[in-house]
Amino acid sequence: MNEKQNKSCPICDSTQTQKIINWDRYSINHCRQCKLIYSDPFPTNQFLKDFYQGFLFNIPDKRNIEKQIETRKQELNTLFKFSKERKKFLDYGGGTGSAYKAACELNLVSYYHDLDNEAEAFVRKEHGLTNDFIIDKIKNSHIYFDYIFSDNVIEHLINPIDYVKEMREMLTDGGEIIIKTPHGKNTESYFYPLITIKGYFLRTLKYNSLSKSLQSCLIRFWHCDPPRHLYSFSDLNLRIIAKKAGFKESEVEILYYHIPLFKYSLLSIFLNFRKYHSLKSFLLRILILPVLPFEIMSKIIQYGLLKINLLTPGGIILKLKKRLN
Ligand SMILES: [Zn+2]
Repeated sequence: MNEKQNKSCPICDSTQTQKIINWDRYSINHCRQCKLIYSDPFPTNQFLKDFYQGFLFNIPDKRNIEKQIETRKQELNTLFKFSKERKKFLDYGGGTGSAYKAACELNLVSYYHDLDNEAEAFVRKEHGLTNDFIIDKIKNSHIYFDYIFSDNVIEHLINPIDYVKEMREMLTDGGEIIIKTPHGKNTESYFYPLITIKGYFLRTLKYNSLSKSLQSCLIRFWHCDPPRHLYSFSDLNLRIIAKKAGFKESEVEILYYHIPLFKYSLLSIFLNFRKYHSLKSFLLRILILPVLPFEIMSKIIQYGLLKINLLTPGGIILKLKKRLN
C-alpha cells in the first residue's frame, strides 16, 4: 500500500493548510482552520508496525516501578472519579503497564492492550498479566469497558478518528474515556531546551534553512516528528475528532496537564548518579555545572509564569463520557 498524501486537513477537511518545514522524507503541515499540526504523507501501516517493535519500550528502573504505579493510581482516581462498584478498565496502548497495574490495585477488573510484543512480555513478567486480560485485537473484542485510558498513543496513529470511534464502540453506556496527548503549539515547551533545541530545532536544521528552522520554532510545531508522532493536537481539533467519532458536544470535556518542572532538565541529569556514573558522565557534569544557575533561573521564571497562567500547558486531555440516552 502506498503512503497516503494529504490534500486537505486530515481532521477538519479544510484546504486551508500550509507546509511548515521538511522533516526527512516527510513534511510537517499546519491547518489554519483547526490548528492541527500533521505529517504529510503518513507512513504506511506496515512501516509503522515494523518501526514500533520494541521501539517505544524502555525497561523502567526497578526502584521506580512502585513509585510510577502510586503516581498512576492518584492520576486515574483524579481523572475518572471511580465509583465503588468493581468495573472494567482498559489500558489502551499500555506500554510498561503502569496504568494496568494501578487499576488492578484500585480494585478494577483491568485489561491491557499494546501492539509491542516486548512491552506485553514485560507486563506479563512484572505485573502478572495473563491471557484472559489481554485484548489482542480491539475489533474482535466482545468486552465492554467502563473506563478506557489512552496515554500518549493517539498522536502516533494514522487515523485518530477511527481510533476514538473504536473506543466508543467498546464503551458501556455511562462509560468514560481519557485520552492524553502532547498539546500542540504549547509555550511551556520553550522551557525544555533539551527537547525543543535538541529534539526539534537541530533536527529541523538538517532538512531546512536556518531562517525556516527559526520560524518553525515560532510556529511551535513540536510534538509532530514523523514517523513517530504524526500529529500534534489542540482543543479545536480534538473536539472535531470526538464529534466525528460519534460523541455529542455535551459528552466532551477538555483538560490540560503540565510537564513536570525538572523533567528533561540538566539538573536531573546532573543528579542522576544511578544512570550516569561513567567517566564520560563525570566529564559531562563538569560541562553542565556552569549552566545550572541559568537553568534554575529559567525554572523560577517558568514557575512564576505558570502561576499566573501565562504559559499554555504541555499536555492536553480529551475526556469523553458516553451518556445514557
Ligand atoms: Zn484542520
